[in-house]
Parts: sequence; C-alpha cells; structure tokens
Amino acid sequence: GSVMEKVLQRRSLRMRNMQRAWLESPEGKKMLDLRKSLPAFKEKERLLQAIARNQVIVISGETGCGKTTQIPQYVLESEIESGRGAFCSIICTQPRRISAMSVAERVSSERGEPLGETVGYKVRLEGMKGKNTHLLFCTSGILLRRLLSDHKLEGITHVFVDEIHERGMNEDFLLIVLKDLLPRRQDLRLILMSATLNAELFSNYFGGAPTIHVPGFTYPVRAHFLEDVLEMTGYKLTSFNQIDDYGQDKMWKTHKQLVPRKRKNQITALVEDALNKSSYESYSPRVRDSLACWLPDCIGFNLIEAVLCHICRKERPGAVLVFMTGWEDISCLRDQLKAHPLLGDPNRVLLITCHGSMATSEQKLIFAKAALNVRKVVLATNMAEASITINDIVFVVDCGKAKETTYDALNNTPCLLPSWISQASARQRKGRAGRVQPGECYHLYPKCVYEAFAEFQLPELLRTPLNSLCLQIKSLQVGSIGDFLSAALQPPEPLAVQNAIDFLKMIGSLDEKENLTDLGKFLSMLPVDPKLGKMLVMGSIFRCFDPVLTIVSGLSVRDPFLLPQDKKDLAGTAKSRFSAKDYSDHMAVVRAYEGWKDAEREGSSYEYCWRNFLSAQTLQAIHSLRKQFSFILKDAGLLDDDVGTNNRLSHNQSLVRAIICSGLFPGIASVVHRETSMSFKTMDDGQVLLYANSVNARYQTITYPWLVFGEKVKVNAVFIRDSTGVSDSILMLFGGVLCPGVQAGHLKMLDGYIDFFMDPSLAECYMKIKQELDKLLQK
Ligand code: ADP
Ligand code: MG
Repeated sequence: GSVMEKVLQRRSLRMRNMQRAWLESPEGKKMLDLRKSLPAFKEKERLLQAIARNQVIVISGETGCGKTTQIPQYVLESEIESGRGAFCSIICTQPRRISAMSVAERVSSERGEPLGETVGYKVRLEGMKGKNTHLLFCTSGILLRRLLSDHKLEGITHVFVDEIHERGMNEDFLLIVLKDLLPRRQDLRLILMSATLNAELFSNYFGGAPTIHVPGFTYPVRAHFLEDVLEMTGYKLTSFNQIDDYGQDKMWKTHKQLVPRKRKNQITALVEDALNKSSYESYSPRVRDSLACWLPDCIGFNLIEAVLCHICRKERPGAVLVFMTGWEDISCLRDQLKAHPLLGDPNRVLLITCHGSMATSEQKLIFAKAALNVRKVVLATNMAEASITINDIVFVVDCGKAKETTYDALNNTPCLLPSWISQASARQRKGRAGRVQPGECYHLYPKCVYEAFAEFQLPELLRTPLNSLCLQIKSLQVGSIGDFLSAALQPPEPLAVQNAIDFLKMIGSLDEKENLTDLGKFLSMLPVDPKLGKMLVMGSIFRCFDPVLTIVSGLSVRDPFLLPQDKKDLAGTAKSRFSAKDYSDHMAVVRAYEGWKDAEREGSSYEYCWRNFLSAQTLQAIHSLRKQFSFILKDAGLLDDDVGTNNRLSHNQSLVRAIICSGLFPGIASVVHRETSMSFKTMDDGQVLLYANSVNARYQTITYPWLVFGEKVKVNAVFIRDSTGVSDSILMLFGGVLCPGVQAGHLKMLDGYIDFFMDPSLAECYMKIKQELDKLLQK
C-alpha cells in the first residue's frame, strides 16, 4: 500500500508541474483566456464546491456554455493542482461515440497534451487511453459494459453522466445502476449534466440532489415559420416536384409509393389549410399523422435548396446548419446540392455533412473555417442539436422532423415514423444560430404545427425494444429484469419487458427460469445486438466465418448500397447484379464487399463504387468492423488460428443461408405467390412489403417459401429491409419454436449447437444435422 501511495504521490507532483508549466506558457495562456470566456467559468468555484460537498449534483445550462468540455476538466485540474492528480479517475459519458471522441480531442488540446495522455476516450471497439489517463470520455454504453464486470466501479472517483435531457436508453439505465451503487460507494461523486431545464425530474430521482444552473448568453435568434419562408423564397407549395417524380417512377416501391399522384392535391390542400393557422388542433389524429408524414417530405429537398439559395444570395455572411433526419437524407440532399450551379460551387459554398457514423477524419471538418467569401453549410442529424456545438452558425434550417424509433409493444415492432420533433428540440435547434451574433432560424413547418408539438420527447426506454438491455441487466446479476426496470425514472411497459424476455429465451440466451445460458453470457459481452452476436457465434462454429462476418458487420453499420433519389432504377439494377439469383440482400453485401476488396487491390475501388452505387465509406466501415469482431471472437477462443479452417465451409451457400436464418429468426415471412404478384406474411399474420432496393423486390417469383429478415419497420405500412430466401428444412433446423409445423426439440437443438463449439470434426456435425433433417422430413 504505502509504496504504491508514494509512487502515486510522486506522479501527482509531476502532473502538477506539467499542468503549471502549460498554464504559464504563451499558448497555454491563450487557451486559458479562451476557456475563461465560456459562461461555465464564472461558476467554476461554486461547481467545484458543490461537487466536493454532495454525492450527487445536477447541472443544467445552455448548450455551448462549457458543460462537457469544461466541468470535468475543472475537477481534473483542481485535483492535479491540489496534488491528488494521480489518485483521481474521472469518467464522463456521452450518448454518441462521435461526441465522446471529439470532446476528448478538444479537452486534451485545451490542456496542451496529445490525446490518450491525461485525457482519453473509449467508444465501442475503439479508444485512445493509457495508464496516465485520468479523465475518460466514453459512451454511456461503455460505462454500462464496464459495470458488468466491475460492479462497484473500483478506483473511479467521479462519474459525469452528460446530456441526460435526451433521455437515452443507456443513460436511463445507467442512472438506475448508479443510484443503486451510491450507498455502497460513499466516496463516489455523481454529476448529471443536462441542457434544458427539467432538472427537478433528475434531482427528485436522486432524493432532492442540489441543482446548479449555469446561465448562458446567446444572441437573439429570429424564428421564421413556413408561411414566412414561402414568402421570402417565393417558393410555391404547388411545386411538389418530388411527388410527381414518385408517381412517374415505377421502380420506386418504398413508402413513398403510398402517395399516388392523385393525393398530391389533397396534401397541398392539407398544408395550405395548416398554413391558414386556424385548424391544426381540429384535425383528426389520422390526418395529423399523415401531415406529419408527408409535409416535410413533400416540400423537402427543393424547399431546403430554395432556402439555402436565399441565404447565399440575400443574407449576411455566416455559416448555415441544416437539420435533417438521417444519413440517407443527408447524402441525397448533398448530391442534389452538388449539382446546383450556386450551392454546388466549391468556390462559394463549403458543404459539410455531420452524422453519427462519420469517420474521425471527417469530424474535424465540422469545426473548419471556410475561406473568405465561401459560405459553410453543414448538413446534420439531430446530433448537432446539443452534443456538438459549431460556433460560427448564424442560420439554422430546421425540417422539423427526426427519425426516431418508436416501439409498438403490442405488435412487437419497432416503428421508424418520420415524426415531428418536440418543442424543446425545436427551441434547441433555433438556439444554435445565436452563438456568435444574432441569427435566423427557418422552420420548414407552419407555426400552428409547432404549437401542436409535444413539449418534450418520450424517453428512449419507452420507445425501443429492450432485447439488448435485458440481456445486460441479466449479466449485471441484479435480480429480476422486471423489478430492476421498475426502478427507472419512467419505467417501460411490462409488455415490452415480457417481449424482450421471450425473445431472449427463444434465441437461447436465457433459460426457462430467466437465467443466462452460456450463449447468453457470451452475447452480453459482444458489442452487437444479441441476434447478430448469435449469428457470429454460429458462423464460427459452422466454419463459414468470413461471409457471416461481412453480413453482421454490414447489418450493424448500414447498407453499403446507395439509393440516390434521381437514379433509383439504375441503383436497383446495379444492386441486383450482386444477387446472382440467390434471393439474398445479405449475400449481395458479401459479394459487393469482396468485389471491393479485389478492386482495391487493383487500385480501382473508386470506379468500382461509382459504377455499382456503393458507398466506399460504408464499405470501409464494414471492413474495420470485421477486423474488430474477428479480434473479439478470436480472443474468446471461438476462432481457429488458421483462417482456412474457419472458412472451410464458407463456399457452402445453403449453410451460410442457414446461419443467416439462425441469427435473424423469428424475423421470417412466408412468400405467398399470386397470379401476377407476391405478398409476404409474417408469423403473426401481418402483411409486410419489401423495400424498393431489396434484390427480392425485383423478382416476379421467389423460389424459396420463406424470407428471413433483419428488421421490420413501420412506416405507414410495415416494411422489411434486407431479406434472404430460405427453404423449409433450413427454417426447421435453424429457426425456433414459433415455426408452424415444427415444435418439439427445437430449443434443445439450438442449445445443442453450443456443444459443437469445440467439436474438431465439423464435417461430422454437419452430417449429424443432415440426419436430423432427414428424420424430420420423413415424419
Ligand atoms: P456544452 O457541453 O455546455 O454544450 P461544450 O463544452 O461542448 O458546451 O462546448 C463549449 C465550447 O467549446 C463551445 O463554444 C464549442 O463550440 C467549443 N468547442 C467544443 N469542441 C470544439 C472543437 N473541437 N473545436 C473548437 N471549439 C470547440
Ligand atoms: Mg455538452
């Protein structure tokens, strides 16, 4: 003990000397002046005292006031200055990986150190930290994962949970666990940070913890609603060009098809009516829903383009931030803008995108300064709402929509409805324009629609399936899942919890008594959705690892096939070239990836992606995820050192199909052939439709009786994204108990696969399965 103590004391002194040297250096002084200008600085002493005196405090303050970059740093600095630097260990969680990374980078540069020294970060499958790291920014998921193996957070002195106002599932989950831990860790300090002012909710949850507000300063921002925007830009609502396109393009089979051309006028009328400000409240919920669904889409890209032109031509200098719903929209709009004579001219407009799956190199671009007379335009998802602050924004364009998943517990279906944001979000988006000077915000919806927005967004815990979460709760060994979740800030519906438990039982990760199986234990450690984790395990057991690895990586990144609005048909054709009649979107991704690797070797990957409508960026992300997953599986002893052995059966298509089925089950739909068309029915008798660029959407008939799919999403109708055709026998063997016609022995067989883990003779095991299959078929 005392030797260690001495070592740490000596290190603390060294840390203090280094910190003082930096603060006295010219660059350090300059940086300090900059930091002192942030509103949080005025509260520094008050904050430090409150943290020292209370186990839990809640801090609220305007976005950009310096909560994330400054307050954990104040604690670090004061610990170092008082000679306890080496004894402290501060963790600050972020809801998104990109903010954890960019904040850590920022804080370490504010301290004049390289990233990974005193300040580091850790996000899923990636990190920069070392033995000298005393302030760690990580995602809330990482801290949860750490809690699995380290129930008491040994050695941690301070935990900051940031952006709690977003009410992310992981944050709500963390708060339950931490609240439970606090009595056993009297010395641990918990600091909750939030942007908006619903601090009492959190303070009450922690028995009336003190709250501190950091007053911020922002310049006034003028709000323009749709009515003003239309007048300003001269844009005519009747020029719903995009709907015309949807109507004419027969290949366009996604949800947009649900707006036939004749409904165009109806929607125009709806929107015009809404603009009359009189009657939004009087609409029936159904009409409101369709308005919410279609209004932003209809006026969508063309209106945004018109607003951007207006800003570039008529407005004062200043960067523009456009809030969009997701990566797909962002990349489509970017393509459209690039073709525009003014907005696409790099000498006049610097176009930047900002979304959750950006590469690290791209992240810094967000903070880049545009050259003189060039206007910076950032297209962003709602992550630019609070977790990342871009300082030079003067204009905000707010489409009013966010793609959030909601969860329909009754039908056990996640819904991806393009839904309106909350009033709190709209205010937050508007506020982003007033950081450096008075700003302007263009809301692309009528004022009366804004007034009907919900005040706050529903917490994520109440709107997502709980599968992963319940698996993690089980491995925390905190007792019954239901009891645990009922201690949440706002507990989820019992039905949603039961659905998750049933699912985990079905995939064999919980046994009948809700205890973790071996498979369950392993899956809880894998940083992917349990069903994809299971697919990886199966792929390694059955020695067809490579294709399965690509499929799982693809499913956890996103589809590498692009679907540009104006070239949907060409893109669809390009994708179908990868399907080689095997009726599988998943196999198409495998082929696309392999082709890309070949093309890369020949130095022609750029042309390859361009020709085949593939996103090089997504393929790159899949590539690095593949490496990381195989590392984890190798580490767990599931992979052979010899790559050939792991892939002995990779060429066996039906086996790969079976593994896909084993992972995605119970995501199955039966293929019903009619004279000229096909329809698809899920287990619960629901109808589903195929996404437009699924390879299976192109066939007149499908030679398999079943399609397995990864995701079922409700967007007006229920759609399935990626699907793979499978045969009866595969479904019987690799599906689960829900399968009609097959009951007994199924779960047992699934468990049996786990015994094959170490079986040296996989050929033998394959034969065993074939025999089982034959027996079943004879019955
Ligand atoms: P809060 O957490 O209260 O929203 P932050 O601590 O994130 O505020 O940000 C404080 C200030 O630091 C903001 O003005 C922001 O623009 C600036 N900032 C944060 N990251 C960077 C960066 N990487 N480069 C330049 N400025 C940054
Ligand atoms: Mg912050």
